[in-house]
Amino acid sequence: MKNQGMAPRTYRLRLKKKSKGYLIIFTGKGKGKTAAAYGVALRTLGLGHKVAIVQFIKGPWVSNEVKAMKTFGNQVDMYTAGDGFTWQTKDRKKETASALKGWAVCLGLLSAGRHQLYIFDEIIYALKYGFLSVSEVRKGLRARPPLVHIILTGRDVPAELVKIADMVTEMKDIKHPFRKGWLAQAGIDF
Ligand code: ATP
Ligand code: MG
Repeated sequence: MKNQGMAPRTYRLRLKKKSKGYLIIFTGKGKGKTAAAYGVALRTLGLGHKVAIVQFIKGPWVSNEVKAMKTFGNQVDMYTAGDGFTWQTKDRKKETASALKGWAVCLGLLSAGRHQLYIFDEIIYALKYGFLSVSEVRKGLRARPPLVHIILTGRDVPAELVKIADMVTEMKDIKHPFRKGWLAQAGIDF
């Protein structure tokens, strides 16, 4: 890495921090949290590294990003947290059991350490509704292998997770066609 005109101290800091595993959070009410996570996944895949994705919400359709990820073969491993866990269902017991199973999958993946990037999509939803304990998840995230990156997505991230994260981006909803009555568009929303 060349100095590129940076002040020597900045340059040294960059070098020192070159190989840190980040805990990244994409949150907020605006669109783009899951899409941003998959965007980062593409970069990791482009490097030839492996990605694991655990989805904490199973929508009524198979999203096209999931189909696209499957074309990367064994570079990507995808899991859905349980079966009955969607935005529609109201069965708390079932949703909690699904979320707990999903979290067990996340912990198993992290301890196996076979991937460089882990995406726990909509896990924040499971925390928000109390299906998972924030302190348990915090503990598991802190114990991650040092050089892997983790991305969490979902609205309303708890402050305890912001505290331990390296990077937190809030998507702000300025305008969305949904409010004019437009439904989700294939290729854009799913
Ligand atoms: P995306 O999957 O497109 O990146 P997201 O992960 O930021 O969106 P979620 O809260 O997970 O958003 O909601 C998923 C679905 O809701 C997507 O189809 C998305 O386009 C849509 N959506 C996201 N933000 C809004 C919004 N502000 N108003 C209406 N629909 C939204
Ligand atoms: Mg999402």
